Amino acid sequence: MLDIQKIREDFPILSRQVYGKPLVYLDNAATSQTPKCVVDKIAESYYMSNANVHRGVHFLSQEATNIMEQSRRHIQRYINARHPHEIIFTRGTTESINLVASSFGEAFLQPGDEVIISEMEHHANIVPWQLLETRKGIRIQVIPITPAGELDMEVFRGLFSPKTKLVSITYVSNVLGTINPVKDIIDTAHRHEVPVLIDGAQAIPHLKVDVQALDADFFVFSAHKVYGPTGFGVLYGKEQWLDRMPPYQGGGEMIAHVSFEKTTFNELPFKFEAGTPDYIGASAFSTALSYVEKIGIENIAAHENELTQYATQRMQEIPGMRIFGTARQKGAVISFLIGNSHPYDVGMLIDKMGVAVRTGHHCAQPLMHALGIEATARASFAIYNTREEVDIFIESLKRAAAMLQ
Ligand code: PMP
Repeated sequence: MLDIQKIREDFPILSRQVYGKPLVYLDNAATSQTPKCVVDKIAESYYMSNANVHRGVHFLSQEATNIMEQSRRHIQRYINARHPHEIIFTRGTTESINLVASSFGEAFLQPGDEVIISEMEHHANIVPWQLLETRKGIRIQVIPITPAGELDMEVFRGLFSPKTKLVSITYVSNVLGTINPVKDIIDTAHRHEVPVLIDGAQAIPHLKVDVQALDADFFVFSAHKVYGPTGFGVLYGKEQWLDRMPPYQGGGEMIAHVSFEKTTFNELPFKFEAGTPDYIGASAFSTALSYVEKIGIENIAAHENELTQYATQRMQEIPGMRIFGTARQKGAVISFLIGNSHPYDVGMLIDKMGVAVRTGHHCAQPLMHALGIEATARASFAIYNTREEVDIFIESLKRAAAMLQ
């Protein structure tokens, strides 16, 4: 049994009040809160072991380099990558996808080639491919969703052609909560000899990830959604792909030798890490992963699933409640509308009661279009949320619904 009250004590922000009410933070799919151990790690790094990595022979620089490389190995173990150099540090999911689009695009995509994505993608997994449509004349093929908010796998299987060069798909939808059958997607794509990028932004906080078991070619995620720092993220890529991909950005660290006649590039992972990396972010993220490991990702998922089910069930008490996304496999995300009320109004009213939910298109406008709506309100859960908070959420929704009628 998890002691959630004790876990809550690790997150000082949870004892805050907003508008004189205890904070009920249900916007975890946007960013999770940060435990004290992670913030302490950042402070300790700046206080005690800050020095630029790689370039120095002095003690502190070597120490900082060692800590950064230990963090890389921790992330490698955490997602079960084969090699530490398959872990590339980025600013987050968005930059990781842009890196692949730019670099894989340059190496492997020709005009007329096709990239398969889905209707439920975050803009971060749409727009980089659209930029390639403009720059390289590639084409995007889109897997539609079913009324339950699952990928239409029949259509997906029919989308492959000799022009298909990449599948890029989200593991868990940030709007619908759908957990996609990514193993099946990867196996299908591999039968066509097509590599697959998995957007793991919403999976990493909730699911055990094993990139080798999945056989993912690329797997990307952000630290800030799994109790880590903002501005830090990961691109996992199989060595066989990364080796053949050109650098994304040029600068220091990513070179082996520079002259005006000819510059040669550093080996993996440094080829993709131009400039001073966020070594403090890396070690803080490693601390966040240790925090998750201490609790156990399965325990986290079980707790979040229980809250999601309880909230889904209690939300039926509200007249006019519409929930978007009823997939059989679902993460800890509930998107909803109440009658004809605008989700912004619902969000603003419950905010005054201390309850933080997200409202808007959730960076998934094509999905909103497919659902025939403009926006939703979205509640999403993390390890520190409680049933009592769900009760406050429901009561606040009831009050908001009554006011908006
Ligand atoms: N993909 C998905 C599925 C997401 O939920 C998010 C964050 N909302 C992103 C990509 C982008 O993540 P980031 O803003 O951390 O780069």
